[in-house]
Amino acid sequence: MLPTLRSVLANSSDPPRLAGRWSLVLIFALSLLLVAATTCLASAQEGESSRSAPALRDAEKGPVAVPAPSDRAMAFYRGNNAIWAFNRAWFIALPGILAFSGASARLRTLARRIGRNRFLTIGIHIVLYLAVVFVIDLPLSYYEGFVRLHHYGQSNQSLAKWFTDALLNLAVEATGGFAFAWVPYTLMARAPRTWWLLTTLLYVPFLFVTMLVMPVWVAPLYNRFGPMKDKALERQILALAERAGIEGGRVFEVEKSVDTKAMNAYVTGVFGTQRIVLWDTLIARLDEREVLAVMGHEMGHYVHGDVVRSILLGSVIVLAGLFVVDRAGRPLVARFSNRLGFDRLSDVASVPLVLMLINIASLFLGPVVLAYSRYQEHQADVYSVEVTHDPHAAASAFVKMQQENLSNPRPGPIYRFFRASHPSIGERIDYFNSHLPRLDEPPVRRPEDPGRTRASIGSPEPR
Ligand SMILES: [Zn+2]
Repeated sequence: MLPTLRSVLANSSDPPRLAGRWSLVLIFALSLLLVAATTCLASAQEGESSRSAPALRDAEKGPVAVPAPSDRAMAFYRGNNAIWAFNRAWFIALPGILAFSGASARLRTLARRIGRNRFLTIGIHIVLYLAVVFVIDLPLSYYEGFVRLHHYGQSNQSLAKWFTDALLNLAVEATGGFAFAWVPYTLMARAPRTWWLLTTLLYVPFLFVTMLVMPVWVAPLYNRFGPMKDKALERQILALAERAGIEGGRVFEVEKSVDTKAMNAYVTGVFGTQRIVLWDTLIARLDEREVLAVMGHEMGHYVHGDVVRSILLGSVIVLAGLFVVDRAGRPLVARFSNRLGFDRLSDVASVPLVLMLINIASLFLGPVVLAYSRYQEHQADVYSVEVTHDPHAAASAFVKMQQENLSNPRPGPIYRFFRASHPSIGERIDYFNSHLPRLDEPPVRRPEDPGRTRASIGSPEPR
């Protein structure tokens, strides 16, 4: 979801730095969406494979035990928490410094010299600002997104791929910012009292369009997407999907093994581009029944329309965030105009001030989104059990995921409140265990159509 939007939030499988830029997404959105409006299987704490989980299936009869996290997993968890806290502070402090030092005002003066008219000045200022932040942030990004993940054996990325992806992020953000930042700034100038409301109203259709094109235009910039390679498994997945009314062409495999060893899957897109994407790492490490259980979860998101719901909740969060910007931003500008180097919010030099306020608001709005996200994720787990009748496979899939992704299966309450977009792996395994069939029960017959009935409409979209 948006930075504030759930899925967007901590769920994303992107490195922590990208998630830290939610704020940019909020307003300037493209890359934000990339992270945000997908609903996925697990929080992306990418982790190292610990090569275990063989005999899980031996004990089909009993509940699946939640393994104790390794020391390494706990060290990774604690480090992630420290980085999260640091980044929250950093993404408030950095724009604050750039605003109150007058640096942003100087950048705007430069942008005006290059651009001359108001439209170009806004666009160029955004691009310059993003480039400056990219450079300042580069050492931290490199440590968090490359050095540290390799240290924990979680990353498969070459330095070249990491850096190319970082530049791509910058290009996507800069393009989105250049193309769209004039909208809120024009509204601030023309409708100073209601710009936050009007911006949100325009933002909703913008989010839908972005989510529509993202899986087709943006995601393939980073990784290769295609039909599933294992054709026997694909047949089973498509049969399962068909029973839920999901057309066959909507299941994709993405080559994430170039980036990570972690496993995940997600639903993204809206309307004609909605689709289920399985990471190749997940297909490689789970057995057939486990992959189907994961598919059941993703199908739950698909038939529940969770991407659209997330966009709608995200819009409410954006409204609240922009309201905070308006109410806090105007008095700040009035009081500190000398330091800031501008005297109204509608001056594009206010970009870092706006981002600083959005990041502060996100601290309070984020937990709302996360709570809703955890609800959606649980409902998707419920759906998986209903559609596959195989809670044992779902539980064993999560055991593998915990080990491969170096997860802490039972994080503390602070983590849960501020960071958890999904129920903890321990809670999820507990849920699946509580739905294991009793031994004296006859085998369950699978329902004909567990989801919305939808006769297959037309031909599947080309893959
Ligand atoms: Zn999910």
